[in-house]
Amino acid sequence: MTSRRPDFPMFVSVSEARKMLAALLPDPGQEEVPLAGARGRALAAPLAALVSHPTATESALDGIAAQEEDTLSAAPASPVRLRVVGESRAGAPFEGTVGPGECVRIYTGAPLPQGADAICPVEQLTDDGEEHVLLARPASPGDVRPEGGDFRVGETVLEAGVPLTPPRVALAAALGHARVPVRRRLRVALLSTGDEVVEPGGPLSPGQVYDSNRYGLHAMLEECGCEVVPLGHAPDSPQALQEVVGRAGGADVLLTSGGVSMGRYDFMRDLLIEHGRVAFWKVRMRPGGPALLGGWNGLPVFGLPGNPVSSLVVFHVIVRPALTGQPVQTLRLRAGTPFRTLPDKTAFWRATIRDGQVYDYPKQGSGVLRSLSDTGALVVVPEGVRVEAGDDVDVVLL
Ligand code: AMP
Ligand code: MG
Repeated sequence: MTSRRPDFPMFVSVSEARKMLAALLPDPGQEEVPLAGARGRALAAPLAALVSHPTATESALDGIAAQEEDTLSAAPASPVRLRVVGESRAGAPFEGTVGPGECVRIYTGAPLPQGADAICPVEQLTDDGEEHVLLARPASPGDVRPEGGDFRVGETVLEAGVPLTPPRVALAAALGHARVPVRRRLRVALLSTGDEVVEPGGPLSPGQVYDSNRYGLHAMLEECGCEVVPLGHAPDSPQALQEVVGRAGGADVLLTSGGVSMGRYDFMRDLLIEHGRVAFWKVRMRPGGPALLGGWNGLPVFGLPGNPVSSLVVFHVIVRPALTGQPVQTLRLRAGTPFRTLPDKTAFWRATIRDGQVYDYPKQGSGVLRSLSDTGALVVVPEGVRVEAGDDVDVVLL
């Protein structure tokens, strides 16, 4: 390891680390894609409604449409008798006008006919011959869906930058868009390092460990809409690392796992410090302290720590928001147990959510990968802040 005095920042905060990484990433630009393939992509421009929804005031249920005035006195013991003058179906509206004492049979999604201003559900009706119905309750206003009640034509409904979740894909279709502008996918080269790290599926010798980071990080990258350039795995050798890092040239950023800590064989660190560029080394957080941000021949490189929990947590709270432009989602929940305070680091303790409260997970080691799978939640304890049972805390969902 280098003995030079470092000429780069050390021990940056989580938010500084996030900002510094985001600043090194290129603007991916935008492209237009068919809506059917847009799930998970980030919208590149606001989407406005091409139509109102509903396009006309319509019924929310099956029943009759009538004049509200006529329904007000209806009661089970003294039902109101109305004359049926027609029918309004979704796709085949009633063309006439509903007068006093009259109604039309109406079905969910059908336009409210002229003259009518109220809907009564079929459950409150009894047929009285072919031509009449008896109504046992007054109409209730919620059974009418007003024109534009969901959104109005011209209204901006989806903001630029939001990820297209399945409900937003449905919404974009309802707005009338068959194609949508999305941010181009960032190309992220992914490399894991370590002499002891081997591919799952084969035998494991003593001292070896299966490569969980590369699989976990690949899945996380896909989940945030990136294109993964797989560089596989490299041993702990400066020459091998240099060779494989050189192959990441076409990517927007290189993500590595392992080899950035304090050990003698942490050659990713040496490669960047001695032959590349370093923007920062080490973040004031646990797990995940030794992360390193730098550059290699103009390519931004983010070195994640090798410890399995560290690499996934650092990805989630620093790399993911920088790649997607989306803040880390947190919930505010009550602590069911105290959580440990670190004087000079933000802690992300694995925690179990039960009955609306969060409880400390008993094994917080950064090698205990099960802790992330068992809990799926991290309690954030900022530097120096005490958290007792009963306090409200921020919780990150993974
Ligand atoms: P390092 O950051 O390279 O010093 O690695 C720290 C710890 O994480 C060691 O116990 C490694 O064996 C483990 N580790 C490193 N890379 C991986 C990986 N890709 N998958 C699982 N464990 C790893
Ligand atoms: Mg290593």
